[in-house]
Amino acid sequence: MHTAPAVNPEIKAEIHRVFALQQHHQWEVARSNARQRIAKLRRLYDAILHHRKEIEAAMWADLRKSPTEVNITELGVVLHEIRHTSQHLQSWMTPKRVGTSLTLFRSYSEIVYEPKGLCLILSPWNFPINLTFDPLVSAIAAGNCVILKPSELAPHSSAVMRQIVTECFPPGEVSIFEGDATVAQELLSMPFNHVFFTGSTQVGKIVMRAAAEHLASVTLELGGKSPVVVDETANLDTAAAKIMWIKLVNAGQTCIAPDYVLVHESVHDALLEKMKAKVKQFYGNTPAAIQQGPDLCRIINGRHFTRVKGLLDDAVQRGANLVLGGETAENEQYIAPAILTAVPEEAQIWEEEIFGPLLPIRKYDTLEHAISYINSKPKALAMYLFSADDRRVSKIIAETRAGGVTVNDCGPHFYNSELPFGGSNNSGTGKCHGEFGFLEFTNQRGVLYQARWMPTTDFFLPPYGGKLRQWLLEGVVKWF
Ligand code: NAD
Repeated sequence: MHTAPAVNPEIKAEIHRVFALQQHHQWEVARSNARQRIAKLRRLYDAILHHRKEIEAAMWADLRKSPTEVNITELGVVLHEIRHTSQHLQSWMTPKRVGTSLTLFRSYSEIVYEPKGLCLILSPWNFPINLTFDPLVSAIAAGNCVILKPSELAPHSSAVMRQIVTECFPPGEVSIFEGDATVAQELLSMPFNHVFFTGSTQVGKIVMRAAAEHLASVTLELGGKSPVVVDETANLDTAAAKIMWIKLVNAGQTCIAPDYVLVHESVHDALLEKMKAKVKQFYGNTPAAIQQGPDLCRIINGRHFTRVKGLLDDAVQRGANLVLGGETAENEQYIAPAILTAVPEEAQIWEEEIFGPLLPIRKYDTLEHAISYINSKPKALAMYLFSADDRRVSKIIAETRAGGVTVNDCGPHFYNSELPFGGSNNSGTGKCHGEFGFLEFTNQRGVLYQARWMPTTDFFLPPYGGKLRQWLLEGVVKWF
């Protein structure tokens, strides 16, 4: 765990200045109506499109990410979130009348959606644009002031984001600080009302502890070991294609990437052959073609390259079968897509989130064994089930725990703005996307309006004695 040294004094002074500015400005931002907030989102939308080519170039420089992947997994997601939010914001913001119990018959109640105030968004490097701007959309929609701190490990992407944010918003409304953990820790020392963190479970704990100092509410979007189950009734062509695509997007550096596959023993060999064929079809027929092709990202930096290669070497040294790939080139932080079988139980790859292009496959005999294996791990962020048997699918969903599930595909539950996205315990707390994201940055204030025409009654005020009162109270407690 990295305990950060002190932040540069100039950045510290700037953080304090911007924070004070936002504190002062927050009431004006909070008063904005849906039309004004949608106009802000529109500015962001237009600026993203305006800087589209620079974003693509930045992501190539940071991750060697193909422009197509940038459009599918970064820009498309944020632009859709803006459109969806703009379409529904008026209705999300409108106070909702709710019923009242009979004992409160003379009153009426509503839920009012007030902004939390000042929000901090700390984001990771793996999908820098998506995971910085997506929560920003929800925070703006909810009427907050926001400070963003993207990851220092994707500096080209964060430089473009800085340009976009500076063009779109005054610093008293939305501001961005680039930098490492020292900057993040200085920001975390400030009394934000809400902290939205996307990143590792390890740093998530640091963030939650820091937020506790100010009793700031937190959203933690973390990672974990997301399983895939392929049973004997599954369409293996679909399963192989979907699993290998989502596994290898961003070279496996994806929070919802499958971490391991549990496959029924009767279809293990057939699935394996199809998965190997898919890798070749997607990225090239030979190791050289895969490495030279334009579509596979690189590992973000030397530290992560060494960590992922270490997981691969450890598994192989302990006797795992490397059935495909695994070639590496340290000078360009390249690791070829690798499929492993018969990985011994004590291998490190079963213990930590892989976050790279390695995929271990395990056979299972009964569904109960597959379920108990999944439940022996901390709660996953995502789970994927391939089966033609609805009863089995329902059984797995009912008897396991995970942040979200896609059945007979991999990943689309992330893209549906009508679904809450997030983890559970080890894989996170709180939800994002669509109305769930709006609510995450909102205090749902309960307001009860007592009828002005009601005479004040002291019937239930002390002194409490009196038979009639006790008799009535009996009824009130039991029946209303
Ligand atoms: P990370 O936790 O190392 O960094 C995330 C952010 O925290 C960065 O902005 C970083 O500067 C900051 N940070 C790092 N150390 C810190 C410290 N000591 N104190 C305060 N802030 C600190 O994560 P990462 O490597 O950038 O991202 C990879 C992880 O994120 C994976 O575990 C992945 O599963 C997870 N992730 C989750 C989601 C999701 O939606 N649930 C999405 C993407 C990534």
